[in-house]
Amino acid sequence: MIRNGFVANSSSSSFICCQCSELAGGWDKEPSDFGMFECVNDHTFCISHLSIAEIKDLITKILIYKGIASDVIDDAINSIDKDYMVSYNVVKLMGKLDDYFVIPEHLCPYCNGDKASDMDVMHLIKTTDPKYYEDMRQKLMVERKRKFGRD
Ligand SMILES: [Zn+2]
Ligand SMILES: [Zn+2]
Repeated sequence: MIRNGFVANSSSSSFICCQCSELAGGWDKEPSDFGMFECVNDHTFCISHLSIAEIKDLITKILIYKGIASDVIDDAINSIDKDYMVSYNVVKLMGKLDDYFVIPEHLCPYCNGDKASDMDVMHLIKTTDPKYYEDMRQKLMVERKRKFGRD
């Protein structure tokens, strides 16, 4: 496996979920080691934000996209059946891919419009309605001062 090649140049990576801001990372790790996916446009997200049906659909599309045989895909998909097993199985599934897999944008739920992350919504408000965004910032600061300010 190509993964062995990484040992010679080990590096530390960290991943932050665009939906819940969960941070994960470690030496020679990739997002799938933490039950996360990463897309070409830098969306990283926990698979736990998807329903089991959405996960099965996404994994199927990824494996088809990577040219994996359909019987292997069926076995893999059938192994995803319980919440607590999902992360573990996704790691195994991604292990069927021989490289550090980054999802193309048409398969990324945050790129293709199936979902919208908090970070993307924030960016949208900031760019389309900067006045509202600034007002909210001021409101937050006033609120914080009222709650925690000393004078
Ligand atoms: Zn998350
Ligand atoms: Zn994306």
